[in-house]
Amino acid sequence: MDDAIKKGHFIETIITKDIENNKNDGRVVTRFPPEPNGFLHIGHAKSICLNFNMAQKFNGKCNLRFDDSNPAKEKQIYIESIISTVKWLGFEFDTPLYASNYFDRLYEFAVELIKKGKAYVCSLTPNEIREYRGTLTEVGKDSPYRERPVEENLDLFERMKQGEFEEGIHTLRAKINMKSPNINLRDPIIYRVKKASHPRTGTKWVIYPMYDFTHCLSDALEMITHSLCSLEFEDHRPLYDWIIDQLETPSHPQQIEFARMNINYTVLSKRKLQRLVEENHVSGWDDPRLPTLEGIRRRGYTPASIRNFCNTIGVSKKDSRIDVGLLESCIRDDLNKIAPRMMGVIKPLKVIIENYPEGRTETLDAANHPQKEEMGKRQVSFSKELYIEQDDFMEDPPKKFFRLGPGREVRLRYAYFVTCKDVIKNEKGNVTQLICTYDPETKGGNAPDGRKVKGTIHWVDAGHCTDAEVRLYDRLFKDEDPEQGKQDFLENLNTDSLEILSNCKLEKCLENAVPEKAYQFERIGYFCLDTKDSTKEKPVFNRTVTLRDAWAKITRQQLQQKKQQAKKKNKKKNKKKNRKS
Ligand code: ATP
Ligand code: MG
Repeated sequence: MDDAIKKGHFIETIITKDIENNKNDGRVVTRFPPEPNGFLHIGHAKSICLNFNMAQKFNGKCNLRFDDSNPAKEKQIYIESIISTVKWLGFEFDTPLYASNYFDRLYEFAVELIKKGKAYVCSLTPNEIREYRGTLTEVGKDSPYRERPVEENLDLFERMKQGEFEEGIHTLRAKINMKSPNINLRDPIIYRVKKASHPRTGTKWVIYPMYDFTHCLSDALEMITHSLCSLEFEDHRPLYDWIIDQLETPSHPQQIEFARMNINYTVLSKRKLQRLVEENHVSGWDDPRLPTLEGIRRRGYTPASIRNFCNTIGVSKKDSRIDVGLLESCIRDDLNKIAPRMMGVIKPLKVIIENYPEGRTETLDAANHPQKEEMGKRQVSFSKELYIEQDDFMEDPPKKFFRLGPGREVRLRYAYFVTCKDVIKNEKGNVTQLICTYDPETKGGNAPDGRKVKGTIHWVDAGHCTDAEVRLYDRLFKDEDPEQGKQDFLENLNTDSLEILSNCKLEKCLENAVPEKAYQFERIGYFCLDTKDSTKEKPVFNRTVTLRDAWAKITRQQLQQKKQQAKKKNKKKNKKKNRKS
């Protein structure tokens, strides 16, 4: 069991008490009930972890049940994706269940309600139903069909089922109270005609039960003990209980609500995610920038890190927005332990080691993990031509820049001290190559004369490396709350959320990188092979997450300095121009 589950939360307290009181004979059965109308996102992971963890903790079980009562939006691909995602997260369940398995039983329950005088066929139009329902401040009005005799209701409902009526002509409504302050209790619709084919029952049905009717009865039929759902269903709980109270069901589950997960800089709603996908703001449902679990998985997040995240944020009744930094720190913690270290240069700058013998290649030992000797060593090759990171060189370095600059000496990780002797530029004035010398006495990274260097940088052997594409991801939205101050959340989209670097040079052994395995490119972040676009000829790596922010900060500082330098240059240019004119 994951560590953090050991801490209790209010739902755990409720269940513990129920067991002490021998409620439900001490059984605990929960369920995760997705509607198969989209792909799961990280918000769902909270519900999945909660339901499966409670079952596990109290030796009970958790069902995966599809709430598939709206055929218009539901698809088999979603069902398959949801099953594989829940398994990927590390949870086990018996064969998946479907609310549609209960359509016959639900129909019988509806008939039972009619016979008890607790439901009636209503022939108001959809618009009229809306008008009669009233508002938050205004009570509703009884439908003129409310007092239809039971026989007539039974006959009409049967004919609805036979397909005699088109959509919107008749509905079946629960007869509760049109004056209730809770709108959910104002004679809610429980069945409607829908002439759509269903992914599982095909064309057998032309009437489908509504969510509120389906959900509580499916729970009751499955003998669920604790029906955990998000806060927006709090106002539905009286209806949940009312329906079960009217009918002869095998059990009466207890609905308990908790706050949904929200994360900053992203959106967690299938409808909004769908817009991002359909309007091509991202490449698909598994785009690594999306908070969908398929996207997060492709990005390189591990199931353990997501479970850990869900357990860390806990469960409460209070709505809050979680900092995405917490999710990032959970994946770093996990990958720091398991990812072997590698060297990869993502923005290469060629370095020639002037005094290194032509044609010679040597291999150097490199540790796969600085703290874990058991992860072993690997050999990296070194020769006259290397690549280093463009960011690790500055022609006019400020004081605090401890990397390479003209005349400066740095350590090449696992290799030698090198000194920059000359800078080669192209006709535009951009640096294209560095000429360096190395000190053969410093092999392994230490000087026998005890002299120190302030910087250590990573590199790869130019003649012996893997070419790759690397994709760097940033937040999908510019504002913490994408919704805030905008008419449409899409106005807040960060148009620079994806940076593709196509000319990266990686350590040779990464040509054998395995999908779903994490690698740390030293100083750059954690990476994984992209499962979709990678080929043997052209591997593609996704950056899962940066290392601790230190490196990112330096790069930002550096960027700012570059900008200031550019500004100065411009000023000079302008002055010159002004003088001429
Ligand atoms: P969305 O709003 O994204 O469309 P949904 O609630 O309609 O989500 P369902 O398939 O009905 O999606 O959700 C299955 C379960 O997951 C429900 O019990 C729901 O309460 C829970 N769930 C969905 N989103 C979150 C979230 N952000 N945090 C916690 N639980 C969630
Ligand atoms: Mg829903």
